[in-house]
Amino acid sequence: MTATVHVPPPAPAATVDVLVIGGGQAGLAAAYYLRRSGLTAGAEYVVLDAAPAAGGAWQHNWPSLRLFSPPEYSSLPGWPMPPYPEDGYPPASHVVDYLTRYEQRYALPVRRPVRVQSVRRADGDPRGRLEVDTPSGAWSARAVISATGTWGRPFLPRYPGMELFGGHQLHSADYVGPDGFTGRRVVVVGGGNTAAQLLAEISLVADTTWVTLRPPRFLPDDVDGRVLFDVATARRRALDAGGPDTGGVAGLGDIVMVPTVRAARDRGDLVPQPMFERITPTGVVWSDGREQRADVIVWCTGFRPDLAHLVPLGLRGPDGRIPTVGTRARDEPRLHLLGYGDWTGPASATLVGVGRTARAAVADITALLSGGEGGIRTHGAV
Ligand code: FAD
Repeated sequence: MTATVHVPPPAPAATVDVLVIGGGQAGLAAAYYLRRSGLTAGAEYVVLDAAPAAGGAWQHNWPSLRLFSPPEYSSLPGWPMPPYPEDGYPPASHVVDYLTRYEQRYALPVRRPVRVQSVRRADGDPRGRLEVDTPSGAWSARAVISATGTWGRPFLPRYPGMELFGGHQLHSADYVGPDGFTGRRVVVVGGGNTAAQLLAEISLVADTTWVTLRPPRFLPDDVDGRVLFDVATARRRALDAGGPDTGGVAGLGDIVMVPTVRAARDRGDLVPQPMFERITPTGVVWSDGREQRADVIVWCTGFRPDLAHLVPLGLRGPDGRIPTVGTRARDEPRLHLLGYGDWTGPASATLVGVGRTARAAVADITALLSGGEGGIRTHGAV
């Protein structure tokens, strides 16, 4: 005789109109516009965030990180970032505080910690629902905004001999400050702002070597986030008006000369070397045979979009990204992507820039849903 095993039926999926994945700045900007469209928080739209606390990636950056811009150039829609009392450029903790209060101010319905594992089509109906799976239960939505950022996917290139290195290797995502580096020989890899800023503080306590794939491009000393924003805005306006592409900020350079980076340059600590060829148990070796002994290698080699939950939708292009038209996934109109990089809209991965793309995404979603069968009601202007 076989025993009867009672398997309880799966809990029904919680149903909303719009589900936002990720509660960092991009997810909150989207929620702000969903709220403004008149949808009911919690019942008609919800934000699921994997992190236990508010603040997105800003909670994890190294403690001395400062914004490139003063608060008035670092604001989400609706409520400007409060001034930072000490000087113009706030630390990451100020952003965490701002995002925490932003979420409270607008009573945004953020559920955390809830990590979305997958987004799937409920059936073959292109106007049907998207099913969203999490460890604490399933959700069903008519549209999804993915705003999961890049922090969860640090990128580490492969170099011959990497696994043989006898010292310590870390990605900038795991950097917490220069204390553990005192008196050591440190190789910093990367040609961007993170490498320059980490080098600026590590070189105060350690013997540093800076290697970059391409010669680093320093911005003029007087160019900060304000100027970059103005240049990006001018480019967007020119493109919107059908004018030629002015090239935007990419033409200006990469590394913002924040005070610590300027000081490192003036001390002679910002001298780049070309990329090494391989790693040995005791250091790194260039193609001409030159060797540098090292105790630590710090990889400031960036991040990739954190999109694993979208794999079941089969939308990725050959470059690993999901092709978009504006913020909308080209091949799945019920899905929008916010943040990640310029490919989801100009400056979408910045505090000041994400509002514009969030607004466009929500306008597109409300139009899509209002036009559909049983479409949602939108009670106000987006
Ligand atoms: P995140 O802040 O990473 O938020 C994503 C959220 O999604 C997180 O809370 C995460 O837990 C959650 N999540 C991830 N996966 C899932 C999942 N599967 N399910 C549910 N939730 C999930 N920008 C500026 O405007 N000014 C600056 O000065 C500036 N300086 C920078 C300096 C550094 C070193 C870096 C790395 C970036 C800087 N940026 C700056 C860029 C940008 O503002 C940040 O990268 C920003 O955190 C991106 O916001 P986001 O909301 O897109 O992603």
